[in-house]
Amino acid sequence: MVNVILLGPPGAGKGTQAKKLVVERGMVQLSTGDMLREAKTSGSEMGLRVAEVMDRGDLVTDEIVIGLIREKMATPSAGGFIFDGFPRTLPQADALGDLLAQLGQGLDAVIEMQVDDAALVARITGRYTCGNCGQVYHDKTRPTKVAGVCDACGSTDLKRRADDTEEALRHRLMEYYKKTSPLVGYYYAKGQLATVDGLAEMDVVSAAIAKVLDSGD
Ligand code: AMP
Repeated sequence: MVNVILLGPPGAGKGTQAKKLVVERGMVQLSTGDMLREAKTSGSEMGLRVAEVMDRGDLVTDEIVIGLIREKMATPSAGGFIFDGFPRTLPQADALGDLLAQLGQGLDAVIEMQVDDAALVARITGRYTCGNCGQVYHDKTRPTKVAGVCDACGSTDLKRRADDTEEALRHRLMEYYKKTSPLVGYYYAKGQLATVDGLAEMDVVSAAIAKVLDSGD
């Protein structure tokens, strides 16, 4: 079993790579962004509370996301967990360490996906996903084979995120540098950080991630 954090700014490709790891290694993807978006669409009290914060590109409170992760980690994963978009602050990182320790588990790797900011705008503004299976697409670099139909599951429920605008992205980037990027140093100091080039072709990035995961066996 391998537990891994995918760390990187919005648009670095965390979700795309996490989904490949789910298929290829039977791991469980824990994306707090997906969980929060689900809460938003379901119209739950918490969903309503976070909607505006998310659309603006601000971070929601540590308490909310730690609660979501704690709940999901209660169901064991034989293949391990991929933390995608969590932790995003130092208190979240500490909380994750505690949760894993309570389960008698550890963190096997923290993979930083490095990308330059200029590339992010192009990546984010062309992005759309399947509302049914979560597959990620891009207008220019990875469109669906048939327009409007998901390659993976055939659904026609393709959507764009409310926070994938240039303005919200600028805000999300600022949040990343202020609150999340200190985690790079935090995990480096713990000897757990590996870095991959997030701008390489998708399969090259996957191979680099696989190398990091397999080196710990
Ligand atoms: P993501 O899908 O990971 O880009 O997350 C979308 C939005 O959900 C973020 O811009 C935040 O508003 C919120 N969010 C997701 N994960 C976290 C987290 N770990 N901490 C705080 N806010 C989060």
